[in-house]
Amino acid sequence: MVKIFYDKDATFDAVKDKTIAVIGYGSQGRAQSLNMEDSGLNVIVGLRPNGASWNKAINDGHEVMTIEEAAEKADIIHILIPDEVQPKVYNEQIKPYLKEGKTLSFSHGYNIHFGLIRPPEGVNVIMVAPKSPGAMVRKTYEEGFGVPGLVCVEKDYTGDALDIALGMAKGIGLTRAGVILTTFREETETDLFGEQVVLCGGVTELIKAAFETLVEAGYAPEMAYFETCHELKLIVDLIYQKGLQGMWNDVSNTAEYGGLTRRSRIINEQSREEMRKILKEIQTGEFAKEWALENIAGAPKLNALRRLEKEHLIEKVGKDLRKMCGLQKDE
Ligand code: NDP
Ligand code: MG
Repeated sequence: MVKIFYDKDATFDAVKDKTIAVIGYGSQGRAQSLNMEDSGLNVIVGLRPNGASWNKAINDGHEVMTIEEAAEKADIIHILIPDEVQPKVYNEQIKPYLKEGKTLSFSHGYNIHFGLIRPPEGVNVIMVAPKSPGAMVRKTYEEGFGVPGLVCVEKDYTGDALDIALGMAKGIGLTRAGVILTTFREETETDLFGEQVVLCGGVTELIKAAFETLVEAGYAPEMAYFETCHELKLIVDLIYQKGLQGMWNDVSNTAEYGGLTRRSRIINEQSREEMRKILKEIQTGEFAKEWALENIAGAPKLNALRRLEKEHLIEKVGKDLRKMCGLQKDE
């Protein structure tokens, strides 16, 4: 069984006298720093001086300084900039200030697990990760609750690295909902697998393939959009709230019978075999290497794929329909 920590299992003792530098003020940086600050912890924010988030963080009332200054001043350095820029920023602006006994912290295990960031001896390496986008992290905290999260300890130099992680998790509000103890490896590999196979990759391809099938057969693209994309949210909401059983109970018997008898023709043994291959590519570091090279080359493949995705008919139809339903304002 996994170990889950709640509010009563965590204290601020290991963090209350420390300075926590949040590096980055985007989705997670803003939410986590505001929550920790409101929980009474000592937060400073490290940013690049001419960047867009500098003034935002100041306007939110934070003590803002350069990344180097924050790294030097802090006992805990919590890196919340995009994963692909972390190695460079770490090497140039953080590493020189990582004195013995400090704690290096992340919300995703990617760079540590794949060895793209190699901390020196004598520091703690931990993860404190909300299982939710930043906006939700902040909103639920303000409502008096929190989102669930993860904590991990990769290196425990001071002997209280887990207490530090739990203190931060409590400050962010994560222990109110529950925090699972995991490892950098498990978090990184399951996270990549989930986003590639289901959440981002699998779902979008399923939607597009079903949409194209209906449109090819002569059905109105608007009808195809409603059936294969729009309604997905209603089903996912049911599963989110009540599990698979709850969803099956709420749809018609016809939908239940059709779904149960047809689904394994869509996700079949070939799809499962491909899932195993994708997992292997993650486990062996093959995906990480591909993504690193892609970034070094200036992301040509990502840019091309972004363009193709943007030009797809479903995007045009969807945009008009979402506007019509009042779901999306003009971008
Ligand atoms: P964002 O993309 O929102 O981070 C933006 C911030 O990073 C801005 O403050 C930006 O500063 C700064 N930044 C970007 N590039 C650089 C650079 N080259 N040098 C210095 N600062 C830079 O990141 P997220 O919040 O999405 O992700 C942060 C971490 O949290 C990642 O490890 C991610 O995996 C993890 N995570 C994210 C989740 C999410 O839902 N987004 C969920 C769980 C974990 P400026 O304004 O100057 O450009
Ligand atoms: Mg994820």
